[in-house]
Amino acid sequence: MEVDTAASWPTLRALPSPATTPVVASGLAAELAYALGGPFHFLLPDAFTANLVAMQDALTQAGVDGFVYYAKKANKAAVFVERAAAGGAGVDVASVAELREALGHGVRGEHLMVTGPAKDPALLRLAVTHSATIAVDALDELDRVISLALTGRVRPARVLLRVLPGTQPHSRFGMNEGELTTALKRCLQAGDAIRMEGFSFHLSGYDLQPRADLAARLVDLCLTARLQGLEAGRISIGGGLPVSYTDAGSWHTFLAAQRPAHYHARKTFRTGDFYPYHSPVSGADALAALLASHPENTDSTLADLIGDAGIELLLEPGRALLDQTGATVFRVQGVKDRDSYRIVTVDGTSLSLSEQWFNSEYLPDPQLIPQDQPAPAPAGVFPASVGAATCLESDMLTWRKIAFPHPPRVGDLLLYPNTAGYQMDSNESPFHDLPLPPKVVIDRIDRPRPRWRLDRHFT
Ligand SMILES: *Cc1c(COP(=O)(O)O)cnc(C)c1O
Repeated sequence: MEVDTAASWPTLRALPSPATTPVVASGLAAELAYALGGPFHFLLPDAFTANLVAMQDALTQAGVDGFVYYAKKANKAAVFVERAAAGGAGVDVASVAELREALGHGVRGEHLMVTGPAKDPALLRLAVTHSATIAVDALDELDRVISLALTGRVRPARVLLRVLPGTQPHSRFGMNEGELTTALKRCLQAGDAIRMEGFSFHLSGYDLQPRADLAARLVDLCLTARLQGLEAGRISIGGGLPVSYTDAGSWHTFLAAQRPAHYHARKTFRTGDFYPYHSPVSGADALAALLASHPENTDSTLADLIGDAGIELLLEPGRALLDQTGATVFRVQGVKDRDSYRIVTVDGTSLSLSEQWFNSEYLPDPQLIPQDQPAPAPAGVFPASVGAATCLESDMLTWRKIAFPHPPRVGDLLLYPNTAGYQMDSNESPFHDLPLPPKVVIDRIDRPRPRWRLDRHFT
């Protein structure tokens, strides 16, 4: 087999994860792979708490009255909901099952945000009963909420009106100008049955300026609604805080260098379809930058606009709260040679790496963890793509030929870094009757050997 030079194979080194190192170095990852007999995810909840605290600090430092809701759809584990509740955050849910999970794992009803289009009547009823905030997506939904609140006579329904972004006019979510005007009238007519708390949006993409601009528009909408006698004291800016998986140099070098020959079967991806694996500011820093930015047509910062209007800022981060909170481990089950590279087959599927299902590729380099073998593996550059243990030609965990530092061998482990945000379980399925990879919670890393348990659902 041809041994290529390192320079000719683009790499995308993941940012270091201090909490992952002891899981590998202590031998725990290998022991778990043996014990569980298949791929598994491990979760690092302390990193979740740190991300949450950093966001709450960014709000405080900007002098903004704010509240963080963890967007639960980004990961199904119970432990993150528990950490959100313990950290004084709420949870953003979009189904009865998610709402039940959040309540069952310690989140108070009034700290729930219910989003999603055309919500199930059972979900709306539970939301009203538990005093959750409902981000209303359409006029017919608002009517259902009002009639529930009127007939239930338990408590008023708390609503935000979701706005169709002017910059994303083809979005299927939110209400346009005319619908918002009608919605405000209906809220007024509903009287005490409704608490119209304000407005919300969720933008796709990760740029900050469109978020600042739209947030400023929501502040104006609140001021107008208040003139009509509505409460309108909160705005939600949704999710989409960017996450950096790699450093700037690696990302830009990678984008410039990568070409079809670097992928199995000369597979091509549109670079615009890649998640932006590096952002100049990310996570809590991106929140701080957003608050310090100037929305269009104003000299004020977003933080000042919000403060001056006496508004509470809500956000619903998913991916950014989950940055560096987990990884996924597969075992190499087979290795075959191709002309200038190898195809490694692992004991799981790309259903445990969701990015592969969006015309895209999860790009951070997986880490090869060699296991005890009769002879040490030679060092060098050994390109290999990673396939799944299924009968689908297209089921590849990584089309790209990864420049491994050793030849991958059967029994070695392959660790995909930073997978907790959306990669682990949004697309998982027991395809081929393969079991779903379990989630292992690493509670404590501050001991010679990290302490672990399985993630536990109470429902
Ligand atoms: C998915 C979603 C989020 C979370 O988005 P991230 O990009 O993970 O931060 C927040 N709010 C709504 C309404 C969503 O649909």
